[in-house]
Parts: sequence; C-alpha cells; structure tokens
Amino acid sequence: MKVTEAELVISAVGPKQYPNNALPEIALAGRSNVGKSSFINKMINRKSLARTSSKPGKTQTLNFYKINGGFMFVDVPGYGFAKVSKTEREKWGQFIEEYISTREQLRVVVQLIDIRHEPSRDDKAMYEWLTYNQIPCIIVATKVDKIPKGKVQKHVKLIKDSLGAKGTLIIPFSAETAQGKDQAWNALMGYIRS
Ligand code: GDP
Repeated sequence: MKVTEAELVISAVGPKQYPNNALPEIALAGRSNVGKSSFINKMINRKSLARTSSKPGKTQTLNFYKINGGFMFVDVPGYGFAKVSKTEREKWGQFIEEYISTREQLRVVVQLIDIRHEPSRDDKAMYEWLTYNQIPCIIVATKVDKIPKGKVQKHVKLIKDSLGAKGTLIIPFSAETAQGKDQAWNALMGYIRS
C-alpha cells in the first residue's frame, strides 16, 4: 500500500463534527502510550502527522485522517488513564462506544496492545465489547522490536489466550523496524474493499 496523501480532516469533539462523506473508516483503539500514534505515522509514512504521547486531561477528540482520498483512519481517544476521574472515564467510554457501535462507515477496529505485557483489564473489556457487538476487529501487538525474536510467538499466544481471541488476527508490529506493516495493510485493505 503506497500512501501518497494523508491529511487530518478534523479533530471532532462530538458526532456533529464527524465528516459527512461515505468514505470507509478504520478505527484505531488502545490504551494511552501503546504506540497508536506511532502506528498511524508508520503506516502512512509520516514522521508526526498523528501526534504522539497525548497527555491525559487534554480534550479528547476523534481524529479523522483521510488517506489517499479513499478512506479514513480514525484515531480514537486512548482508554485506561488511571489519573482521570471515574466520571471522565465513563464519558470517554460512551463517546467511543457510540461512535463504534453506530457509525455506518466503520469497517474494522484495530485494537492495539503492547506485546510485552498481558492485556490489561481495559484491553480485555474493549475486546469483549467489540466481540459482543460483532464489530470486525484485528489486533496489532505493538513494540515487537522490544522483545527477542524467539519470544514473539509466546507473547502472541499470551495475548490470544488472555483475550479469548480465537479467530482474531494478531499482527506483531514495530514502528521502529516496520515489521508487520505490510501484513497490517493487507488485512486492512481486505476490509476496505469488501
Ligand atoms: P500513543 O499514546 O498510543 O499514541 O503512543 P505513542 O505512539 O506516542 O508511543 C508511546 C511511546 O512508545 C513513544 O515513546 C514511542 O516512541 C514508543 N513506541 C511506539 N511504538 C513503538 C515501537 O514499535 N517500538 C518502540 N521501541 N517504541 C515504540
């Protein structure tokens, strides 16, 4: 997949601001610091279009990136900040859930999980919720360059078992080495074209 155009269309604070075109959308979800911005930037060959390390407390937005004029990446606010209040977390949850469960253009959710660690409670809740709602999803296991090559399959299995993700594709990925990039594009294009 050759990305020739990538632009931030809007950082939306609510549904009224979502782009009203029919372009298919790929949503990206994961806890903060998992490597979501790095994933987006690597996939679209940009150093810093998606901002990295967004801090808790900032206004949470859904960021819509138009790719090659043909589809959208939608950067969903990172879940699982320990520092914010319960009310704020619930507000985020509703915001994300409403978008994912009602958006017609949404074709697939990419759930990002750090390959080094067992999925957190939030990761599990997110995955369960996606499956329960029958939302197509793939898992990108980030930062694979940080573990020895010989341990990758063991970590992938740990994620799979811990989530109960039997049929779900899990792609080990590195924003440093671009490992997994082609595989991720192939998988995503399958959803865009169908
Ligand atoms: P976000 O909060 O999910 O958007 O996470 P970022 O993309 O900002 O990444 C958080 C931190 O992890 C940053 O310091 C990144 O440089 C680092 N990081 C992200 N992806 C990778 C990766 O694939 N390999 C390594 N070694 N570091 C990564």
